[in-house]
Order: sequence, then structure tokens, then C-alpha cells
Amino acid sequence: MELNDDIRNIKGIGEKTSVNYRRIGINTVGDLVMHIPRGYEEYKEIISVKNAPLDCNVIVEGVLSKRPSVKSIRNRKIVSAQLNDGSGTINLVWFNMPFLANSLRVGAYYILRGKITVKNDGKRMVHPKVLTKEEYYNRLHKLIPIYSLTEGLTNNSLMKSMAYAIENLKPVKDYVPAHIIKECNVMPFMQAVKKIHFPNSREEAAEARKRFVFDEFFTFLLMLRYYKKGSVRIKTKRVYTHSEECNRLINSLPYKLTGAQKKVWSEVMSDIKSGYIMNRLIQGDVGSGKTIIAALALLLNAKNGYQGALMVPTEVLAKQHYENFVKLFEGFDVNVTLLTGSMSALAKRNEYENIRSHKTDIIIGTHALIQEKVIYDDLGLVIIDEQHRFGVNQRKNISDKGNDCHTIVMSATPIPRTLAIILYGDMDISIINERPEARLPILNCVVGQSYRNTAYSFILKEINKGNRAYIICPMIEESESSELENVNSYYIKLSEIMPDNINIDILHGKMKPSEKNEVMERFKNGLTDILISTTVIEVGIDVPEATVMMVENAERFGLAQLHQLRGRVGRSDRQSYCIFMTADERKEVMQRLEVLNKSNDGFYIADQDLKLRGPGDMFGVRQSGEAYFEIADIYNDADMLKLADSAVKSLSDEDVQRIIEICPKKNRYTETVPFFAL
Ligand code: ADP
Ligand code: MG
Repeated sequence: MELNDDIRNIKGIGEKTSVNYRRIGINTVGDLVMHIPRGYEEYKEIISVKNAPLDCNVIVEGVLSKRPSVKSIRNRKIVSAQLNDGSGTINLVWFNMPFLANSLRVGAYYILRGKITVKNDGKRMVHPKVLTKEEYYNRLHKLIPIYSLTEGLTNNSLMKSMAYAIENLKPVKDYVPAHIIKECNVMPFMQAVKKIHFPNSREEAAEARKRFVFDEFFTFLLMLRYYKKGSVRIKTKRVYTHSEECNRLINSLPYKLTGAQKKVWSEVMSDIKSGYIMNRLIQGDVGSGKTIIAALALLLNAKNGYQGALMVPTEVLAKQHYENFVKLFEGFDVNVTLLTGSMSALAKRNEYENIRSHKTDIIIGTHALIQEKVIYDDLGLVIIDEQHRFGVNQRKNISDKGNDCHTIVMSATPIPRTLAIILYGDMDISIINERPEARLPILNCVVGQSYRNTAYSFILKEINKGNRAYIICPMIEESESSELENVNSYYIKLSEIMPDNINIDILHGKMKPSEKNEVMERFKNGLTDILISTTVIEVGIDVPEATVMMVENAERFGLAQLHQLRGRVGRSDRQSYCIFMTADERKEVMQRLEVLNKSNDGFYIADQDLKLRGPGDMFGVRQSGEAYFEIADIYNDADMLKLADSAVKSLSDEDVQRIIEICPKKNRYTETVPFFAL
């Protein structure tokens, strides 16, 4: 079997099943073996309830000693039951799985995998996985890969296909030259493919992962170099003159621009009027005020008679920007419209017509903006907000639409200079490194578990003042459904602690965009007091009344990401607070987190993050959300990025050309290389 063979060549994948694979981009055997696990589950010996350690995954066995029952807590169906193994009992709780009440039988034997916690009413396991004897003994002492799945595809079936593919795959020649493999000390390709899916140990998995991280950076940088060959500044035929309207907008603001904003605006303005095509990255911490720069640039563009587009990664953010711009441009005689995927077909068609006929000057939207049906009328400026969030597939070439238009990309990811130079090549970079004065600095604290109750009382006090709170749970990339489990079991726990009149809601990455919108909308409008969320809230959301953020298991996050997260509070003149709750109180962990307490400067924090990172953190939580890389993380894998950079630099132009021709299709970033870098 070869990498380019269709997946239907794999035993067990027929016409029907193949559709499920294709839905997640797996069309060939090569695509399949490059579908890297999100993590691994370890199946250890069965342990008695009495001796089982708390708060970590364990396997217990026993008989169901109580008839399963279903009850509703705040609109959610909870199934409870009880397991007894002779040494003790555990109360079992499942969330939103009412069918379990019928399928579980009293007196029957079960093997369960989950975490035990202790509550007032004894030991408890929330959302345990129910295993058959056969399943358990097949997995015992193995590292089971956990994959991203889609409807109709189970982890088990994917694992089987994977084993078959790897067993029958003809060895392929490594596309990375042997001397580079040696110099960079990475695994050969075929070995890495085997070990990443079926490792004998976590160390082996980490080594294999290193090779895939290397490949992502290596091919990315290869493509950058390939496309940049002989790049020169390109002249634009569009003429821009100064527009007094921009000064009028600045003077109409309820605040004064910061020095940094003024500097960046003048850089952008002179770019736009320079006669050459602008290609600029604006980096600025969350809350540093990038949006107004975008608004000014779009106004200047519109007043010179050209269309402009602002593309953002989520519908929530698009709507927020749209409402904001409509207000901002009142009395400026520019038409702003919104275009998102969830709009009705009729509404979309209407907008397409408005865009084509230039009835609208500024279009704000999600990647709906780059659909084929959208035909712009003289698009002069494109701005991409939160560029790091644009997925590999969404990154079609929007500037194609504009025929040599100006481009600004805005990012809230503070990247240390050394890395920015590698990743952004010849792009011009503007930095907003100053915060609006009016803001009170966020008050931070790093605390251990003993402060939990105090923290909850504090949150209650803030809510009673009319404020709102975020609680962030980490996405533990460990088990199939743990992201859900985590926020869901936290919800149950918190519901029991908080008074009944406090409204709690949850938000996580597995929700549909429309569901996420609804949840955010309720929180924004004050119908929800506490929002329990995974890191999906990270992107640009603005809820001024949110004054507290509590981050659970802060030790699992990177500093750069924690800093991004806390940017969600402190967005008004109210005093805001951030509580970093850690489950690991060792000195070095506390010291690392204390950096957040000492500084509010994203660039400084990102630098410290690189310095203080402990080794062996290979499957840690991804920090940057940089969508160009699926496995690699620019912070966690910064060393690898530098290695790949010098490897690519050492190649001749002929080498570059040759390697691009033979590298796996998936890694050929022809369509996915960020267009701004071309
Ligand atoms: P980000 O850089 O994260 O995109 P925003 O542009 O959303 O930040 O700005 C955050 C908030 O700060 C907005 O409510 C905006 O109106 C406000 N803001 C922007 N610039 C200033 C300023 N110079 N002084 C006071 N408030 C400002
Ligand atoms: Mg923003």
C-alpha cells in the first residue's frame, strides 16, 4: 500500500465509511497515517475502590449496587448509580446521557475508567467510561491513541484502520535529506509514523511527535522561502489622498489615542498612500486598541472610493465589530454590512448584490467573505483580525479577490522578536505596546486549593455588585470526551456550591457555532452570571461587565496563553480580577505563574514563557492557537522552529525545489501558506 492510495484500499473502509473519513480531510492512506493522535490513554491494573488514588484516572470493577436513576438539575439530565467492589462504594454520575439509565443493570458486573473525587456523600466518579471485559484486557498496559473524530467514526474503528495501514504501508524514502535528519536529531519518517500511533512509552511518543513538529515547521518555512524568491515591493494603481474624515473620527472618539496607536496609525496611513502595496502585521496585546486602527484605515480607504473588508475568525466577533462600526461611523456617510455563514440564503444574496454594486463600502464578516459568490467592486484594503486563528482550510487567498489590495493582519499573540522574524519574514511589523490609560490594571493572584472557597465567595460578591465571571477549565487532551467532561462535571460541582439564583452556563469547543453564539449572547446580556468555559472564549470577546476570571489548573497553561485569557476581563473602567488557581504548588510552578502577577506586558511574558518552560512538556496544552500548524506550537516548540529555520537556510535553491516536489501532499502548503507572506 502506498501513501497516495485511496483510503478505500484499507480493509474495513468501504464506500459508506469512507465518507466519514473524507469529512475530516482523510482521503488517502497518507492522510490517514498523518492523522496524529491528540493524546494517549493509559490503561493500568484494576484497583480496589478503597485503595484507588483520588483525582487521577483509575480503573475499578464491581457490581451496580443501586438502580440507576435520572434527575434534572437546572435543565440538565443527570444519571446516577452506585458501584460496589467489596472494598467500598462509589457514586456514579453521568451528564446528558439519560439512555444509560436503561442500559445499566443492577447487580451486573462493570469495569469503569474515571477519576474519583470525595464529596460529602462519599466517593464519586463523574462521567466514567464503561468498558467490557474484552475492551479492557485488550488495552491493558498499552498507550491507546486518542484521535479527533467525526460523526460515524469511533476511536476504535479509526485505530483498527490505522493499524492495518501501517502494517501494509510500503516503506517510503524520507523527503527530508539525511544530513538534516542527523543534524536536527529527529526520527526518520517511517519510524515516526509507526511510533506516533502505537508507541511503547510516552518518551517514544514524544520523540515521534518531535519529528512531526519539525516537518510542519520545515515545510512551512520551505514554502515561505520558495514563494518569496525575488519578492519586490509592488506598485499599486489605486490613488489615495489624505482624508480629513479620519481626523474627524479621531476627534469624535470619547478617548484620546495612545502614543502607540498614533504611531501605528501614521505608519499605516503612510503605507496606504505610498503608492506601493501595503503588507503589514499589527501586533498588540489584547485590549491595546487595534480595532480603532482598523476602523481608521477602512474609513480612509472608503473615502478614497474603494471597498474594504474586515475578516474575523468567529461569528460572535464579526457581529461585535459590526455593531461597533455602525455606531462609530454614524454621521460619516459610509455603509457597513455584515456577512457571515449563518445568515439566511436570502440575506446573503442581498449582501452579495450590495457588495457587487458597491452599495456597501465596508464589509465585516467571517470567512464567508472569501466565498466564490462574493464579488467585490474595487477592493482596496483587506484587514484580517486575530489572524492566527484562521484555519488551514479557511485561508484561501483573499487578496486574490482584491487584485493587489493593501493588507493588514492584526494579531494579539505577542511573539518574541526572534520568532516573529522567522515566521513573518519580510512583512512590515507595527507594535502597539501601550495600553489605554483609563484602564485600571487587572489585579492578579496565584493561589492553591486552600483558597477555593474564598475565591467562590469573592466571585459571588462581584456578581452581587452586578458583575459577571468567567471560570476557565483546561482542555485536557487526554481522553476522547474529556473537554466535555471537564466543563460538565465542573458545572455540576459549581451548581451545588452556588446559590440557586446564580445563573451558570457552559461553553466549549465541541458546540456548534450557533450554540456558542447563543451562550455568548446570554452572557453578554447578563442572563448568565458565571460562564464556565474552555479556552474557546479566548478570541476577542468584549463583555465589559465581566470583572473576574478564575483559571482552574493554571499550571497546565503556558504563560502566554494565560495572559491572552485574562485579556477578556479588565475591558472597562471597573476594577477587574484574575485568580490563577493551581493544583500544583511546587516552588518552580508558583514562580512561573508569579510572572503574570508581576507584569502585564505580553511581549515580556512571552519571553519569560520561553525561558521558564520545563522540558518534558511535550503533550502540554497548545498555547498559541496558531492555525498554520496542527501539532506544532510556536511557543512550546520554539527550539524546533529555530532548528527548522537553520535547516531551510542551509539548503540550495535546487534542494528547496526538489524537496517540495517530493514532500507529503499534506505538508505542501501551496494553498495554505499565509497569503500575506507571499
Ligand atoms: P484589541 O487590541 O484587543 O482588539 P480593542 O480594539 O477591542 O482591543 O479595544 C478594547 C477597548 O478599548 C475598546 O472598548 C475600545 O473602545 C477601547 N479603547 C481603544 N483605544 C482606547 C484609548 N486610546 N483609550 C481608551 N480606550 C480605548
Ligand atoms: Mg481585537
